[in-house]
Amino acid sequence: MSKIGFIGVGNMGGPMACNLVKAGHDVTAFDLSQTNLDVVADRGATIATSCSEAVIGADIVLTMLPAGTHVKDVYFSDVFDNASEGTLMIDCSTIDVNTSRAVHLAAAERGFLMLDAPVSGGVGGATAGTLTMMVGGTDAAYEQAKPILEIVGKNKIHCGASGAGQAAKMCNNMMLGIQMSSVAEAFVLAESLGLNAQKLFDVSSTASGQCWSLTNYCPVPGPVPASPANNDYKPGFATALMLKDMNLALDAAKSAGVDVSVAERAAKIYSSYSEAGGYGKDFSGIIEHIRES
Ligand code: NAD
Repeated sequence: MSKIGFIGVGNMGGPMACNLVKAGHDVTAFDLSQTNLDVVADRGATIATSCSEAVIGADIVLTMLPAGTHVKDVYFSDVFDNASEGTLMIDCSTIDVNTSRAVHLAAAERGFLMLDAPVSGGVGGATAGTLTMMVGGTDAAYEQAKPILEIVGKNKIHCGASGAGQAAKMCNNMMLGIQMSSVAEAFVLAESLGLNAQKLFDVSSTASGQCWSLTNYCPVPGPVPASPANNDYKPGFATALMLKDMNLALDAAKSAGVDVSVAERAAKIYSSYSEAGGYGKDFSGIIEHIRES
């Protein structure tokens, strides 16, 4: 059993922390939201009244925060100063590669092992413990983290050195963002051509248009009962987070000098849906925006 300090128990971190509790670990959680803390307390986590309190005495510190700025702030303000010698640090947030590498470097300078381990699989995967984890960091950190990663995720891939997990996550979500926009446009086109949505699903889910956005997360109500389309596009994966990930990919492409014009177009759709009020809705809700455009 490990003593785990878990910082950020929102939509994703909450169920991940609960799975660690269920597996017998001693989890102390901290979050700025009391509501989110109450949820994990009900499932057996200990609640800390400050970030430092969650970190003190922990064998492992796990963070699941919205963006790079929160990660930097939490590590530099609280984690590094309060962690014990030998504490393993795992950041599961989705953030930019440069920030991730800067935090890794600072951890290494202080003698800590650290991994970036962003995840894919959404709230459903976090709850079921079936996330895919993309991991960056040293072999030593990866070997030490394996038993914990195996509880929160089903698939784990050691992608390379620090920041490699974030690079993989960014490329994956760029594909996801493009794919969802293509599926949404196809269903809107089908509607206007008088083609039944279920029929299009039946065809494309077994044909070459098949992809995760269609078969697991269909943006129209009906074909995939668990998809957010059946629940008024309640996230799930909020449009604001998808836009964040698309922008991370666009920024990385710009600095690498790579042309990602399809991704640029898709990002504009999420941005426009977000500005029209969809930022808190599931990203598959762009179909409503496309329909109205
Ligand atoms: P969320 O907003 O539900 O949770 C983030 C939590 O961090 C919130 O509870 C917030 O109060 C807390 N927080 C923010 N600043 C803090 C601080 N300084 N100290 C303590 N707590 C703080 O977001 P989420 O959906 O859980 O996403 C978390 C990360 O996971 C993001 O980087 C996101 O891109 C990534 N992600 C999300 C999904 C998804 O489907 N939601 C899927 C894969 C990856």
